[in-house]
Amino acid sequence: MKIGAPAEIFEGEARVAMTPDSARQLQKLGHTCLVQSGAGLKAGFTDAAYEEAGVEVVKDAKALYAQAEVVTKVRGPEASEIKMLSEGQTLISFFWPAQHEDDMKTLADKGVRVVAMDMVPRISRAQKMDALSSMANIGGYRAVIEAGNNFGRFFTGQVTAAGKVPPAKVLVVGAGVAGLAAIGTSTSLGAITYAFDVRPEVAEQIESMGAEFVFLEFEEDQTDGAATGGYAAPSSPEFREAQLAKFREMAPDIDIVITTALIPGRDAPVLWTKDMVEMQKPGSVIVDLAAERGGNCELTVKDEKIVTDNGVTIIGYTDLVSRMATQSSTLYATNIRHMLADLTPEKDGVINHNMEDDVIRGATVTFDKEVTFPPPPPKVA
Ligand code: NAD
Repeated sequence: MKIGAPAEIFEGEARVAMTPDSARQLQKLGHTCLVQSGAGLKAGFTDAAYEEAGVEVVKDAKALYAQAEVVTKVRGPEASEIKMLSEGQTLISFFWPAQHEDDMKTLADKGVRVVAMDMVPRISRAQKMDALSSMANIGGYRAVIEAGNNFGRFFTGQVTAAGKVPPAKVLVVGAGVAGLAAIGTSTSLGAITYAFDVRPEVAEQIESMGAEFVFLEFEEDQTDGAATGGYAAPSSPEFREAQLAKFREMAPDIDIVITTALIPGRDAPVLWTKDMVEMQKPGSVIVDLAAERGGNCELTVKDEKIVTDNGVTIIGYTDLVSRMATQSSTLYATNIRHMLADLTPEKDGVINHNMEDDVIRGATVTFDKEVTFPPPPPKVA
């Protein structure tokens, strides 16, 4: 099959869904690869590097969509891209089907098969295709780097001839994939790191990374906001109050706050309030990884960096992953390559879109002119 990667058209998006390395692997599966000229440039991959990897470079998006049997992308398709997709083609990209029902219906009617990378079931077997985790890992890392770039001091403590420097104190709120990456980055830079999550089972992971789990003095146990399936559920008002009281106690002492708390299907919970920001020292930094979903910090402005009257920097960038486009494209292209490996079981360049396979079924949101979202729950864990 011809697998193609167009240039991303979403403003500011620097990632690309195919790298020269992933293309080499795709060719081993019997596929041929196409890339739109310039598609990899912002991620550090030149046309020449693709050509060297045996990829055909086509001049524009129109030519790419006309030739590719499978189109691989990062962002879900915009209207102009949907127009270029036609019957028999497969699109593999992030899609967020619940938020794009009309696009899903249009593509189903057109006879385009859509594999949504954000719908890959989070089961062990599918970890190699778990693009949400790959991207969250990079986001967590970059959040700490971004904080460091806006913080006027070292992370680690030092005793120097010019004086003693205290270590920075970092609080990570939410210890999912992004939060754990932030914790690892923060401790490796030498900061004293605290972390909180409503799922008590992460305490051990937090501590194993050298951070301190923030315990609440709450009359029940700390399981209030933990739901089944590994995700969080909204906390009770009492639990939330206990959490906020703890954060208020910590706020004057914390230099850097990284927030990553999310609850599936809801706006991000507000956990770092205006009065906490006001209690922080000048020079403190907050990086809100939940900015896309409304923010965990009450004062976050999506896509902006603001400095409050008391000198606290609040970063609400939603493109942290794209800011590390070489790394994120490499991991994303590998996730896509693994998806295509499962779709090409005989390694003969022939796609077998097996809807009996839990992972393929889970991720496929349109098939044979039907919308196939939401999928049934996966059978294996
Ligand atoms: P997420 O992005 O949905 O949420 C981030 C974190 O915020 C979660 O840890 C959540 O518990 C936390 N949170 C929610 N409300 C909070 C609050 N009020 N205060 C503090 N923290 C709060 O999470 P994610 O990174 O997608 O991970 C969710 C789950 O999925 C985890 O159990 C993770 O281990 C699991 N997972 C499994 C796989 C796999 O098996 N393939 C892959 C990735 C993640």
